[in-house]
Amino acid sequence: MDDVEIAPAFHACFYEYGGLSLTPMDEIDHFRQRYLRYMHNYRTEAPYATAFSSTFFHMIRNKALGAACGRHDGYDLVGLYDGAVMNIVAFTQTLLAHPLSFKGIGNRETETPWWMLMDRADWTLPLRHVLPTIRAIAKPPDEYPCDPIRRSFAEDIATFALDFLFFHELGHVIYGHGDFLEQEFGVYQLSERKAVSGLSPDLAKMLELSADVFAIEQTGRPWLHGNQGTKFASSAEALVRWCTALNLLLMISDASEAPIARYESAGHPHPAVRHVAAYGYMSKHAHVCGARIMKNFDDAWLIALEEMGEIAEHFGLRSAIWAAISRDGRKILWEQERLSELWSSKYQTAFDHYSRIRPA
Ligand SMILES: [Zn+2]
Repeated sequence: MDDVEIAPAFHACFYEYGGLSLTPMDEIDHFRQRYLRYMHNYRTEAPYATAFSSTFFHMIRNKALGAACGRHDGYDLVGLYDGAVMNIVAFTQTLLAHPLSFKGIGNRETETPWWMLMDRADWTLPLRHVLPTIRAIAKPPDEYPCDPIRRSFAEDIATFALDFLFFHELGHVIYGHGDFLEQEFGVYQLSERKAVSGLSPDLAKMLELSADVFAIEQTGRPWLHGNQGTKFASSAEALVRWCTALNLLLMISDASEAPIARYESAGHPHPAVRHVAAYGYMSKHAHVCGARIMKNFDDAWLIALEEMGEIAEHFGLRSAIWAAISRDGRKILWEQERLSELWSSKYQTAFDHYSRIRPA
């Protein structure tokens, strides 16, 4: 099977979400090629070749911000919605185009403000519904951000955020969540936008936190080990981008300002709980890498957190994560601890059985 041959199965699997996307837009195609390449490498090279031997990626034709995984004809299929690329790219570009955002990045004097507030924006919706809600005060420049450093920063955080989404879906595959659902419920489809019916909310939330672990392993943890790649001057620089990307992704994943309690029966953890869990996981590993790395990571996380606060306070962007962080910090910790204790006391062993890799 190759990527082209798998297309009909993929289309059938995700038909209810919009099916296979062949959208030829440059932005979408750039990320389509990136993840087709990643998937090919993961499917064929150590250490994950066995786990992903029958896993394929494509884009899903859906303009909302979302992603999904499923199984069809024995293949594990993962997809990002077109809207995930469109919205994340547009969000980071719009944000960096404002001279009052990200004050430490590039030359912000180059940017002329053409919008004021994002207080009515819900970035999970198709872009054509989002853009008219941004309070514009002038015509946007043809290309923005204008400053090349800010443009490249926007690109970096969009890429980190999309990579996180992609590897989160692969997390569902590699930790055997699909196998479990197929065994227990006869269905194997997980959408980041819709709950699996019959699955208890707590278990659904734990699967999401568990899938996040793989995304962190693949996209965040390497920067703790001094890896700086070819693009960044230091691993600290990469960490700032990674932390910012994750914070912003969680920020736009729910514009409802819902408190922790309103997620009680939801099929996903509150974004603030994912936030605390991600911080905990990364800092545990940073700690092992020594004081300097620990400080780099903590500094990066704080920069991201402060920026999130600025975006909420200054531009009025509504989000459940910021509402929870600023109003009920302790409840976030309690909920994260409750889920993590429940996982280790009740589910860990069962899921070790389904996992396609030994837990790290
Ligand atoms: Zn998920």
